Amino acid sequence: MPLRDTAPKLSPEQYEKNFAEIAPAMTQRQAITEAARCLYCFDAPCTIACPTHIDVPAFIKKLSTGNLRGSAREILSANILGHSCGRVCPTEVLCEGACVMHEKGEQPIEIGRLQRYAVDHVLEEKIQLFHPGAPNGKRVACIGSGPASLACAAELAKWGYDVTVFDRNELPGGLNTYGIAAYKSRAADSVREADLVEQLGVKFRQKTEVGCDISFADLEKQFDAVFIGVGLGETWALNLPGENLHGVYGAIEFIERTKVQPFHQVEVGRRVACIGAGNTAIDVVTAARRLGAEAVYLIYRRGEPEMPAFAYEYELAKRDGVSFLWQTQPVRVLGQNGAVTALECVRTLLGLPDAKGRRNPATVPGSEFKLEVDMVVRAVGQKPTTDFLKAVKGVEIRSDGTVKINDRHQTGHPQFFAGGDCTNGGKEVVDAVAEGMAAAEGLDAWLGSPRAVGR
Ligand SMILES: Cc1cc2nc3c(=O)[nH]c(=O)nc-3n(C[C@H](O)[C@H](O)[C@H](O)COP(=O)(O)OP(=O)(O)OC[C@H]3O[C@@H](n4cnc5c(N)ncnc54)[C@H](O)[C@@H]3O)c2cc1C
Ligand code: SF4
Repeated sequence: MPLRDTAPKLSPEQYEKNFAEIAPAMTQRQAITEAARCLYCFDAPCTIACPTHIDVPAFIKKLSTGNLRGSAREILSANILGHSCGRVCPTEVLCEGACVMHEKGEQPIEIGRLQRYAVDHVLEEKIQLFHPGAPNGKRVACIGSGPASLACAAELAKWGYDVTVFDRNELPGGLNTYGIAAYKSRAADSVREADLVEQLGVKFRQKTEVGCDISFADLEKQFDAVFIGVGLGETWALNLPGENLHGVYGAIEFIERTKVQPFHQVEVGRRVACIGAGNTAIDVVTAARRLGAEAVYLIYRRGEPEMPAFAYEYELAKRDGVSFLWQTQPVRVLGQNGAVTALECVRTLLGLPDAKGRRNPATVPGSEFKLEVDMVVRAVGQKPTTDFLKAVKGVEIRSDGTVKINDRHQTGHPQFFAGGDCTNGGKEVVDAVAEGMAAAEGLDAWLGSPRAVGR
C-alpha cells in the first residue's frame, strides 16, 4: 500500500549531495597542518576521554612525520574500528571535547578526521597491519557481528583463538552498517572494516540466527566460550491508537532503508512527524529532509532544555529546516483507507524536577490539535531482545532487559560473556568496541590465557 502522499523525487546528484559526508576526508596538506597544531600534551586529556584510550598524541605525531602506517597501527591496535570511529564518534563530547585547545580559546584539534586520514591510508593501500596469533587450540563463538563482537573477535584472533561470528543479517557490522546516518558513514565503509577482522582469520557466518538456525546447546558443545554481542532490537511501540496504519515506522526500520536501498527507492512522506528527541530522532528527521520531505516535525513532550540529543546533532537538524514541537505529546494516529493522514497531539506542561532532575509532563486538557502528515516515525529507543537468552541456563536478564555481567564481562553462565548495547542499554560504537575488547580480556583470563602458548 502506498503512503497518502510522498516527497517529490530528487535527481541522483541531489540525493548524493544531500547525503554527502558531513566530515569529509582531509587532504594531505590539511592533515599535516592540523597535526602540527597538536601540543602533544602529557597525560593527554583526549586519550583519557576516549573509551578505547587511543594514544592520540602518539598517532598525531606519527602522522605529522609522514609515518601513516605507524599512525594507523597506533589507532587500530587500541580500536580495530578506528576507521568508523573517526567518522561516527561523538568526538565533540569525547576526545575533541576534552582537547586543551578549548582552554586557550582555540578550535580543538580535529582528532576524528585525522584518525580517519591515517586509517584510510592503510585501508586504501590494503596494508595488513595485524596477523592471526599462533593457534592456541581454543574456539570461541561471537553472537552478532556488530562493533562489540568485531572488537572481541579481533582481539581473540590476534591471541591465536579460532573465532566464528554468527549474525542473522546479510552484511556484517550491526548498526554500524545498518543504523548510522548515511551522511556519517555508508554501509560499505562498515563492511570494509569487518574485512580487517576477517583478515585475522575470523570466520563469518552471516544469515545465521543463533537460537533458531543454530542452538545454544550446539554452541556450548562446539566452542570453549561464547561472546554475546546481540545489541538491542526494534524501536519501542507507543501503543497509540492508529499505530498500525500504513506510514507508521520504527526509527531503525526507516533508517535501515536509507542504508541498504538506493535513496530514490526509500519511501518517505511529503510531511513527516517523528516522535522522540534523542540522537536517533535527529537521524530520522535529517534523513527525511534530505530525502526530500517538505515538512518534517520533531515532536517531544518535554522542552528544548530537556532534549536528550547532543547539541551538535540538534544544530544539524535545525540547519536542515526541521520544525520542533516542544511540550507536545502524540495522542493518536489518524488515517484514511489504511494510510496515515494526521497525528493528533496535545500540549503539555512540565512539573518541577523530580529526584533525578527530570521535569515530568502533564497534558493540558482542551489543547488537542491535528498535524497533517503522511508518515509518522517512532524514535523512542530500542527494545532489548534478550528474552531468547533465557534459554541459556545461568544467563540473567536485568529488569531493563539488558544482560547481567560481572566486571570480566562474564554472565551467570561462566562459558558465556557479553558486551556492547545488550549490556549497556545502548551507547555509542566506541563504547561497544571498548566492551568487546574488555570481554576478550575477561574470556581469555577465564580460559587461563592460552594465548601465551603462541607467543
Ligand atoms: C539509528 C542509530 C544511529 C546511531 N548513530 C550512532 C553514531 O552516529 N555514532 C555512534 O558512535 N553510535 C551510534 N549509534 C549507536 C551504535 O550503533 C551502537 O552503540 C553500536 O552499534 C552497538 O554495537 P553492538 O555490537 O553492541 O550491537 P549492534 O551494532 O546492534 O550489533 C548486534 C548484531 O547482533 C545481531 N544479532 C542479534 N541477535 C542475533 C541472533 N540471535 N543471532 C545472530 N545475530 C544476532 C544483529 O543482527 C546485529 O548485527 C546509533 C544507533 C542507532 C540505533
Ligand atoms: S588534548 Fe588536543 S592538543 Fe593535547 S594531545 Fe590531545 S589533541 Fe593534541
